[in-house]
Amino acid sequence: MSEVKVKFETVIGLEVHTQLKTKSKIFCNSATEFGKEHNSQICPVCTGYPGVLPVLNKKVVEYAILTGLALNCEIAKYSKFDRKHYFYPDLPKNIQISQYDMPICRNGYLIINDKKIRINRIHMEEDAGKLVHAGSAGISGSSYSLVDYNRTGVPLLEIVSEPDISSPEEARVYVERLRNIVRYLDVCDGNLEEGSLRCDANVSVRPVGQEEYGTKVEIKNLNSFRALQRALEYEIERQIDEIEQGNRIIQETRLWKDDQGITISMRTKEESHDYRYFPEPDLVPLEIDADQVHRLREKLPELPEEKRLRYVEKLGLSDYDAGVIVDSIETAKFFDKTALVAKNPKAAANWLTGDIAAYLKENKKSLDETELTPESLAEMIDLIEKGTISNAIAKKVIITLLEKGGSAQKIVEEQGLSVISNESEISAIVKKVIAANPREVEKYKSGKKQVIGFFVGQVMKETRGKANPGVVNKLFQQELDKE
Ligand SMILES: [Zn+2]
Repeated sequence: MSEVKVKFETVIGLEVHTQLKTKSKIFCNSATEFGKEHNSQICPVCTGYPGVLPVLNKKVVEYAILTGLALNCEIAKYSKFDRKHYFYPDLPKNIQISQYDMPICRNGYLIINDKKIRINRIHMEEDAGKLVHAGSAGISGSSYSLVDYNRTGVPLLEIVSEPDISSPEEARVYVERLRNIVRYLDVCDGNLEEGSLRCDANVSVRPVGQEEYGTKVEIKNLNSFRALQRALEYEIERQIDEIEQGNRIIQETRLWKDDQGITISMRTKEESHDYRYFPEPDLVPLEIDADQVHRLREKLPELPEEKRLRYVEKLGLSDYDAGVIVDSIETAKFFDKTALVAKNPKAAANWLTGDIAAYLKENKKSLDETELTPESLAEMIDLIEKGTISNAIAKKVIITLLEKGGSAQKIVEEQGLSVISNESEISAIVKKVIAANPREVEKYKSGKKQVIGFFVGQVMKETRGKANPGVVNKLFQQELDKE
């Protein structure tokens, strides 16, 4: 009897912490700038001295509502803050002020590749500080730890999805889209290296067709899109292996070890009752009226999805080009400015997703780090359309524009790159090429018309790509057919 292998499906839910770009912290006016000297941006409130009182930063509420609206959430008319109990050395109050049962946003969604990923909730909370391990001892590497409280009290939004994500790749795309949206909203810089966007993943597997979920495992320390995808791929395989060997999956928190490409057990997962949530007595509940929500809705910028549709429907871009452009806010801003001055926005899009994107990738640069401007790109496209330069020449001009900047017209003039369309000038070269290649002429005459390609190539070599190909072709045919 042959054994039938059980097929498994994956269930993933994500918790994404986005650090808000406010100037001051969530409950005090200490600054939030990244990379400052340790403990230089602290005060008695964020370091939890007895007797101090938190005051809610209204910008945080505004950013939370904007994010909720962009993610199609209901904005709660009434929400409150709660204390979540922890003991961590980097959390001096031993509590974190968060939102438990009445978060500010609920029931949203994000559509990725025609699939709706539901968002359960978005809540506001304060960040913890950071441990800095120092000294050196044995294999553990450090003999003592220091604490930097600069990050303590920095505002966070936790965006919690429903378990609607069904593959590691889909998880990565979801976080990429989320990052894009908070960057369009300008509420978070989305900088993964600086920890402005952090992600925890809950993942379980179950046999295809089974109703109830498998036991879920939480994975922490996912610091890049690549880490998120790799960790999930590893963890799914690990869980399936365990089940196939007849073992049970333990509900726990696991840590992703990027250098080893594995997850390791960190602790068994806490349940929410372990945190002893209770309402924060020092903050009044938050009431948000319809007017405020309405005003913020008016302030919403054009979001990636709306932009994409406009590019396709109004500007005639291909789905691919529109998608690539909106995926990066820098490219989208650049394209919007170019489209205002370029006669042919579609050509601008082709350059941005083609040669320019390839250059940026190869040189590990962003568009902002080059010398190219929307005006110079539009000018170059104009020169192509007028027939002043060929596409082949434009491929060289664009590199100069990216590296040195300036005007496309000037570069073409200074380097003598204009297309040669002058017939008598080209005709002289055509005659020279024919005279130098009698064997190819014979081939042409015996019916091998394709050698014309060879002749055109010779002229291009001679003129360094500047001869107008149409004119060259015409002249060759004239010359060869009359002989
Ligand atoms: Zn403070």
